[in-house]
Amino acid sequence: MRADLSPRGRAANLERMARETFDAVIVGGGIVGAGIAREAATRGLDVALLERCDFASGTSGKTSRMVHGGLRYLRDLRVGLVRTAVRERDILLRQAPGLVRPVAFTIPSYDGRGEQPLVLRLGLWLYDVLSRDKALPRRRWLAPAQVTDREPGLQAAGLRGGGLYHDAVTGDARLVVHVLRAAADAGAVLANHAEAVQLLREAGQVVGVRAIDRPGNRTLDVRGTVVVNATGVWLDRLRDAARGTLRPTKGVHVLLPRDRVGNQGAVVLRAKRDGRVLFVLPWRHLTLVGTTDTDYAGDPDDVVPDAEDVMYLLESVNEAFPEARAIREDVVSAYAGLRPLIRTPSRRSESDLSRAHAIFEDPDRLISVAGGKLTTQRAMAEEVVDRVAARLSRHAPSKTRGLPLGPPPDAQEAFRALGFADPDEAHLCARHDPEAIRPWIDEPGSRDRIAQGAPHLWVEAIVAVEEEMALDLADVMVRRLGLFYELPDQGIAVAPAVAARLARHLGWSPARVREEVQAYGDLVDRHRRFRGSHGT
Ligand SMILES: Cc1cc2nc3c(=O)[nH]c(=O)nc-3n(C[C@H](O)[C@H](O)[C@H](O)COP(=O)(O)OP(=O)(O)OC[C@H]3O[C@@H](n4cnc5c(N)ncnc54)[C@H](O)[C@@H]3O)c2cc1C
Repeated sequence: MRADLSPRGRAANLERMARETFDAVIVGGGIVGAGIAREAATRGLDVALLERCDFASGTSGKTSRMVHGGLRYLRDLRVGLVRTAVRERDILLRQAPGLVRPVAFTIPSYDGRGEQPLVLRLGLWLYDVLSRDKALPRRRWLAPAQVTDREPGLQAAGLRGGGLYHDAVTGDARLVVHVLRAAADAGAVLANHAEAVQLLREAGQVVGVRAIDRPGNRTLDVRGTVVVNATGVWLDRLRDAARGTLRPTKGVHVLLPRDRVGNQGAVVLRAKRDGRVLFVLPWRHLTLVGTTDTDYAGDPDDVVPDAEDVMYLLESVNEAFPEARAIREDVVSAYAGLRPLIRTPSRRSESDLSRAHAIFEDPDRLISVAGGKLTTQRAMAEEVVDRVAARLSRHAPSKTRGLPLGPPPDAQEAFRALGFADPDEAHLCARHDPEAIRPWIDEPGSRDRIAQGAPHLWVEAIVAVEEEMALDLADVMVRRLGLFYELPDQGIAVAPAVAARLARHLGWSPARVREEVQAYGDLVDRHRRFRGSHGT
């Protein structure tokens, strides 16, 4: 059954949360919490999930947008990690063809810099061996002229050839929303903008959480036999601040006009300063470049790109694509996320910290999970729910390996039947289930574009609120639509019109509309601080 993820559905969910006792209460609506909710609900467990801000507002909405095995981890022979990740990549490609699409990466090899051809060829061979049954094309080795045929903008001096291999990309926040939709349709009870502020204990055992419903301005106790802490970099706030489970590192990305960078497809680069691996990905008319990786000890609630982060990325792109000459003012948008990496006793550098995940079961019965990757969420969820099910003595096998996710395979025909043609049809197919769009297409202007130069339609703003639990302007502009990342002014010009449209669905007063627009403007300003005084 299709769950109600409208504001009414959210209110009803909170009522249920206050009333019922669940098998599991999940705290955190990033990809990990979402994956656990889907895994648990599809095994028949009663679950509630609370997210303090918006779904995917943490790390899961600020990634490199890759569904990948992590070729570079093979350098450190982390074969197990890569094997799991390529398996999960292949599962996602099968399950969610609308949301996850294959991409060919060119990885150039230069004289005396980065990986030399023999090492690279060996790495690519092993990467293929680890996913023998994959549907993706196998690796190829390219002569220098073939590399420059594929990527004419790349630095040609010293080029010794290059590898060509395939991984996949996804809209990270869209993936989270679809995993949550699947969880809700399987029975999970969800609420965003509802923060777990305290663990409830009885006889020293965790039996639930006290939560604050921010928009409703009320406190409720949500009870569960098991509580799962999937709060990413905020893990120790709920678990126990003294433990210091995590060592977060900051990762920054920039989006630049693609014609400025000059890349044709996806390219793997080496950073100019320290030789770290960077990715350059085509993203519609833009190019996504990332990422940095630096220790972060600041406030996780206020992580934004700074000038140094942006320069690090730009100088690397400019070295690899000498004609690019990109400067700060060319950056369309920049964002920063924190990796919830597990602290280890060693003094390893940031880039060397393990990307593996860890599950902690405390004496008070709280289960916490952190680390891992967007790509490996399903496998992590399977492990966590095995433990939850063992606690409940409810052993049910996992089904998620075989369950479809996101827009169904016949989405194209369904959108055509609703009167959409390309390019709108292709745009919708990659983001929505036709069942979400259908009820809202007769609203006035719903088939029109929101902004020139971006494919997003007004119906998507309505769907964000009515079908995807978006509750404020930033939820819609940043995470549901992505206009924050893609429009040259990051959506400042259309924000008042979008807010006015949302007002009809969310019952906002004119004063609230103004507040929402102001708050959105502040968010954009904070993300443009790296431009210095010439910023906005
Ligand atoms: C720069 C960068 C690039 C990356 N790129 C990739 C990539 O390309 N591919 C890939 O596979 N992986 C990538 N990763 C890794 C991946 O993004 C993360 O491992 C993953 O998103 C972590 O998800 P999470 O759910 O644990 O954390 P989060 O997404 O941060 O989710 C935790 C959620 O918990 C909520 N929360 C916190 N406290 C509370 C509370 N008290 N009550 C309720 N809710 C609460 C937060 O608001 C947040 O939404 C990248 C990571 C970074 C930083």
